Amino acid sequence: MEKIDIRTLPRTELLDFLLSRGEKAFRAKQIEQWLWQKGVARFEEMGNLPRALRDLLGEHFETRPAAVSAARESRDGTAKLAVVFHDGQLAEMVVIPSRNKATACISTQVGCKLRCSFCATGAIGFARDLEAAEIFDQVIIARKYLEERGMSLANIVLMGMGEPLLNLDRVLDAARRVTDPEALAISPYRLTLSTAGIPEGIRRLADEGVRFHLAISLHSAVNATRDRLMPINKAYPLEALSDAIAYFVQKTGTRPTIEYLLLDGVNDTPRQAEALARFCRAFPVKVNIIEYHPVDGSPYRRSRPETRDRFVAFLESKNMVVNTRRSRGEDIDAACGQLANKSR
Ligand code: SF4
Repeated sequence: MEKIDIRTLPRTELLDFLLSRGEKAFRAKQIEQWLWQKGVARFEEMGNLPRALRDLLGEHFETRPAAVSAARESRDGTAKLAVVFHDGQLAEMVVIPSRNKATACISTQVGCKLRCSFCATGAIGFARDLEAAEIFDQVIIARKYLEERGMSLANIVLMGMGEPLLNLDRVLDAARRVTDPEALAISPYRLTLSTAGIPEGIRRLADEGVRFHLAISLHSAVNATRDRLMPINKAYPLEALSDAIAYFVQKTGTRPTIEYLLLDGVNDTPRQAEALARFCRAFPVKVNIIEYHPVDGSPYRRSRPETRDRFVAFLESKNMVVNTRRSRGEDIDAACGQLANKSR
């Protein structure tokens, strides 16, 4: 009999299984606490379950926890972890410490279909979606990595490999487990989902009433430029994206973040700054200006500091909220857009 991963079972199916074998309903909750709250994957370690039940679970189910296959630490303390899944597929995640707290940047797919031209992940193509448990496991891995170093996990960003809104059911399931008071109980306000801009996905997030933060990788507010940087823009141009963001803001009452990777001579000109300011007039947003880290074979360069400062000053003159962010882990290829499974 082929065993299935118990963590793919909805609560109702786990309950049906237990009741059909004469077990009590409260065992479902106990099992879920082991799996999702304590991060314990082995049935024999589930100490408050009777031996017969642990054996029964072992006969029918298995768990396939993800594991770290390689880790590299940057000069600035940022760590890139290669995470291997049950079928040998690999995705990278990044842990970014700041004093005794840290942010974990986790992946939602192995590779990515969207092929943004500045991104190393896009260049390796797409292998598969990650299961909810595989996304969840990265949080467990980050927590353990940090605990061993005397730090705690403060924030989670779904900004590693992949486009979360193209794997939305599993992403929402993982987010529910991470934030559930009976699982990891991490506040949804400490979770950020970053998207290249899939309008129907953004609308669905709004309709689902999510309480986590939304970030949109914009990188240009000029369609022709964005088409070149992010081919997804040809399917969903800026007008459609703008409507979806407005819908999200109106439904959730939150202020999304616009991520903007500054590229020399491409999207850092006065015309591009004006277009960005116009785009952001439609809703309340924060803008994160991010430094570019070149990837192998990239045609792009980082903007000059004086160009960056002029760009930021222009936006601020329009009363926009702007942060300039240095992305971290450049020396280990862990900075924004650098995740390419080189650890393999
Ligand atoms: S930037 Fe994000 S959406 Fe674009 S190719 Fe890279 S991982 Fe995919």
